[in-house]
Amino acid sequence: MTLNTKDTQRYLLNNEECFAVVDQTMEKFNYREDGLVEVLITAQDAYGFLSKELLTHVSTKMHIPLSRIYGVATFYEMFTLEPTGATDCLVCTGPSCTIAGGEEVLAEIYFQTGVSESGQSSIDKKYKINEVSCLGLCDQAPATLINKKTQVNISVNDVAEMLAGKGKPSKIQVGGSPRELTSPIGSLAPTDLAAHRSIGAYTALEKALYEMTPEQVIDEVKEARLTGRGGAGFSTGAKWEFARNATGKPKYIVCNFDESEPGTFKDRVLIEGNPFRVIEGMTISAYAAGSNDGYIFVRSEYPEATDVLEEALDELYADDLLGEDILGTGIAFNVEVRHNAGAYICGEETALFEAIEGKRGHPRHKPPYPTQAGLFGKPTAINNVETFAVIPSLILHGGEWFRQWGTDISAGLKLFCLSGHINKPGVVEAPYGMPVKELIEQFGGGFDGEPQAVLIGGAAGGFLHPDKLDTPLTHEDLHELDVPIGSGAIIVFNQTVDLWHVLECLARFFVDECCGQCAPCRLGTKQIHNILQKINSGNCSPGDLRKAKELGQTIKTACVCGLGMTAANPLHTYLNNFNPI
Ligand code: SF4
Repeated sequence: MTLNTKDTQRYLLNNEECFAVVDQTMEKFNYREDGLVEVLITAQDAYGFLSKELLTHVSTKMHIPLSRIYGVATFYEMFTLEPTGATDCLVCTGPSCTIAGGEEVLAEIYFQTGVSESGQSSIDKKYKINEVSCLGLCDQAPATLINKKTQVNISVNDVAEMLAGKGKPSKIQVGGSPRELTSPIGSLAPTDLAAHRSIGAYTALEKALYEMTPEQVIDEVKEARLTGRGGAGFSTGAKWEFARNATGKPKYIVCNFDESEPGTFKDRVLIEGNPFRVIEGMTISAYAAGSNDGYIFVRSEYPEATDVLEEALDELYADDLLGEDILGTGIAFNVEVRHNAGAYICGEETALFEAIEGKRGHPRHKPPYPTQAGLFGKPTAINNVETFAVIPSLILHGGEWFRQWGTDISAGLKLFCLSGHINKPGVVEAPYGMPVKELIEQFGGGFDGEPQAVLIGGAAGGFLHPDKLDTPLTHEDLHELDVPIGSGAIIVFNQTVDLWHVLECLARFFVDECCGQCAPCRLGTKQIHNILQKINSGNCSPGDLRKAKELGQTIKTACVCGLGMTAANPLHTYLNNFNPI
């Protein structure tokens, strides 16, 4: 018996069947440690929980100490060590879902199921209910994931139908201009390779392999001034060049599809709508960096996108667009899909490597940087889904063409995720540099109500005051206001929203998602959340806010990774840009 992500029911196999499925997965990975997270995902799916007996079996077969296996099993949100209900119910209470009624939907689910709420995860014989910080469906809020099926635009009145699996499925909402990266999403079946090839898919790879040297590919990407679309904004061409010139083999290309930043859903749309463009970009990148091996790391809350991706990979292997002899050139590139088991921190590049290697997702100290010692300690170029999606057009038309949009620092086209109090939420494509207000009015159908604040960059981003809505959407202009553009999330809050409540939700998000590795982040995020709770219950003392600000600064300067460095961003920008007190 084989399980895959197309199985939309929750499986509760008997012990023997479950062990057989788990054995099959261990064998697939040749009992290597890097298969551990995948093995545990299979076990959780098959049996409903990770029993001591099962973990002992895995430990014996894979020759991994049981203590290490427990360490992994207790790190990822998806795993449970106790039996869970057959209905797995993830309910989003991220910012966009909260303002659309997500918390009320959650309360109704508890009421109708009779499950008693016990923290973030509540379990009884029939249900496992998990509150999650973002399902990447912010444009169709509130959203849930019931037994790996997305259901959207849920109201309190829809809860009974939703629990029966009869809610509204998600859809893809794209817009903006030009539609270079998002075309032909919506007009072609996402996995129909022949149809995609008939309109130009894979001509960029042909051009790169037949007409360009790897160095020329890198030069073109540098000429375009393309920077990473995941949030960090590092030069993509320089990254590939570092990986190419680094000593050590093999070299890896990793696609970060662990899109978990609240308010961000563009990568889901790209993969669900046109996976070929992203994989073509990865293959060009592999050619440039001198790599034959790629990984796509997918978040667990994207089962539908994962199915599309896996089908697309099969099509590409069948057509020799992946494998040992791509387009008859003798060049090899193989891509493996790996799954996150529910840890936001694994979106951080080095935590992601740890997860692929079968470990707890703890970010590493840098340097060394991934291009020197990344996945399995080898040179690795890791990019976001959107960054890879840019590559085919850029190779076909050239770096100068790409630079016709944007500024010197923020060049080209960008995808923005519009949600919250916006009339037409969805993913929109626009040149960097378009003012926030213009983007929302031109492509988002305008504001729904009088805007009170705009959160840019997600939970790790910052609040923009309505007086500043003419600010161009570039790294440099937003930086002046201490607001990072991040991955391009834009959430609008109108005057009906209590922003202190939003701040408390965002602070709790960081408490939940902190990996616990550094004390300033582990303790500081809790303290900030406690202070915001006190403010919202009316018990705040005058020194509390000052303490929260100082704590945010301390975490920023004394922690290992970007989570801690950005955890206090929303609070700081709210206090600095709004003067609420
Ligand atoms: Fe983990 Fe926070 Fe330290 Fe990052 S800053 S490594 S999330 S404890």
